[in-house]
Amino acid sequence: MAKVLFYSAAPYVIDSMKEPMETAFPGRVKFTDVRCCADTAVMAQGFEAICNFVNDECDAETVEKLSEVGVKLVLLRCMGFDRVDLKACENKGIKVARVPAYSPHSVAEQVVALVMCLNRKIHKCHLRTREGNFTLSGLVGFDLYGKTLGIVGTGQLGQRTAQKFLGFEMKYVCYDVYENDTMKDKFQAKYMPVEEVFATSDIVTLHAPLMDSTHHMVNAELLAKAKPGLMLINCARGGLLDTQAVIDALKSGKLSAYGMDVYENEGPIFFRDFTALDPAKRMKHWDSQLAELRALPNVIITPHSAFLTQEALKDISDVTIKNFQEYCDKAEMTNEVKPPK
Ligand code: NAD
Repeated sequence: MAKVLFYSAAPYVIDSMKEPMETAFPGRVKFTDVRCCADTAVMAQGFEAICNFVNDECDAETVEKLSEVGVKLVLLRCMGFDRVDLKACENKGIKVARVPAYSPHSVAEQVVALVMCLNRKIHKCHLRTREGNFTLSGLVGFDLYGKTLGIVGTGQLGQRTAQKFLGFEMKYVCYDVYENDTMKDKFQAKYMPVEEVFATSDIVTLHAPLMDSTHHMVNAELLAKAKPGLMLINCARGGLLDTQAVIDALKSGKLSAYGMDVYENEGPIFFRDFTALDPAKRMKHWDSQLAELRALPNVIITPHSAFLTQEALKDISDVTIKNFQEYCDKAEMTNEVKPPK
């Protein structure tokens, strides 16, 4: 009977998935905190399936090695599949299934948290008052009331984010390759080209998937057209933006603030603890762009934790069990991901 190896199984993964997985598939599940990549694919020897998260690598080289050790199924416990070479998987006869939706509230609520924290400088207030500084200089925010929120990508998370901001009484503008009636009817949102969204908005939040067509869609050219002082939020994928262009815009003041839950080169960095390492050792893993983003006072970084609520974890666990069960039953796989034709 097929067995499954969970890569990148941090404690929260074990807490939320070990018991339900072992109940559904007794003796057929193993967890490791090791990240999946070409060097670690050999660990999947003896497992017909692996279960990966957002930063586990499944490029062509990894797929080749996974295939050599007999892997036939990649279960993704996330929505995005930008790190999986779907064509390589298809060529090797490896199926891929994902969790296409889980608590959409989790990510949308994180967007609200980042906007509020950056705007009202909660992070600075907290650090200041802990140290005994109760002054107000540098803490001026703005009312969200009447301001314009730009949403790029108006699928489930873009729409849910619009819903969360209703109480702030903002105007909505948006961009997507497909227009959505809910955005227009329920939120009175206006669709416009992405350049106009950036030129009109006080805050822009990104909710498009990372694909060839969206890679670096936020670049120096687009940011040059942005409204001065724009706040940018990215809870989608780091590769949607050209990180250096964002750093330059933050340094010039074109962007007033940046809330990032994802980072272009997060793969070897996020979900790991570097606190015990001195700067020289840290910088073997980090890059100077991340170091610079960390140093900017108008940037808040969360470690790809936007999804991380109890409700989302329960949904991820349920759907992953269903995906594996369908594979074991040789049934049609509801959430299979195939390469584009
Ligand atoms: P979705 O498929 O429901 O919506 C994506 C939308 O993007 C669609 O409406 C699509 O038409 C649009 N789109 C496609 N190409 C576009 C383009 N070139 N320009 C503008 N829009 C374009 O997906 P979703 O559930 O809303 O999730 C969006 C993304 O959020 C996921 O792909 C994933 O990368 C990311 N995500 C991040 C986290 C996190 O924890 N940070 C969690 C879940 C999802």
